[in-house]
Amino acid sequence: MVEVLDTAALLFWPPERLVTGICAESQMEELRKLSEPRFLLVQSNPPELRNPDEKSQLAAREAASRTGDLNGLSPVDIEVLALALENRATLHSDDYRLQNIARNEGLEVKPVNTKGIGKVWRWQLRCTGCRAVTDVDSKSENIPDCDICGSPQQLKKAR
Ligand SMILES: [Zn+2]
Repeated sequence: MVEVLDTAALLFWPPERLVTGICAESQMEELRKLSEPRFLLVQSNPPELRNPDEKSQLAAREAASRTGDLNGLSPVDIEVLALALENRATLHSDDYRLQNIARNEGLEVKPVNTKGIGKVWRWQLRCTGCRAVTDVDSKSENIPDCDICGSPQQLKKAR
């Protein structure tokens, strides 16, 4: 199965997962603008980088026109879409326009699914008496009484 990865995957996927995918060369420049450290990391062990030819870029623009999504697409988006089309690949993207166009062309589409990555709960102590709130670093075992009024405190997830 050929997998074309959009730039969100380059940013958020574990590096070892990227190496089996295909990306457009122009995405590496885009990645460099978004995150230099990430660019250097991905460049040291990159996915297969290709330049889609003119014919498949034209096909990508035509496909985008058919769904009315052409206006919202960048040149890099067009290249990602062209690679997906010319390889009949699974497209990994969170961009709803690219998802829409690729599905309309009968390609399989999967979200990059950045949700949950790097999500860390913050915790707070809340006083049951005076309602004072204190940020704490982690979910601690021992919950002290309130410094202000001496009432018991509760550990809560910060909103
Ligand atoms: Zn208190």
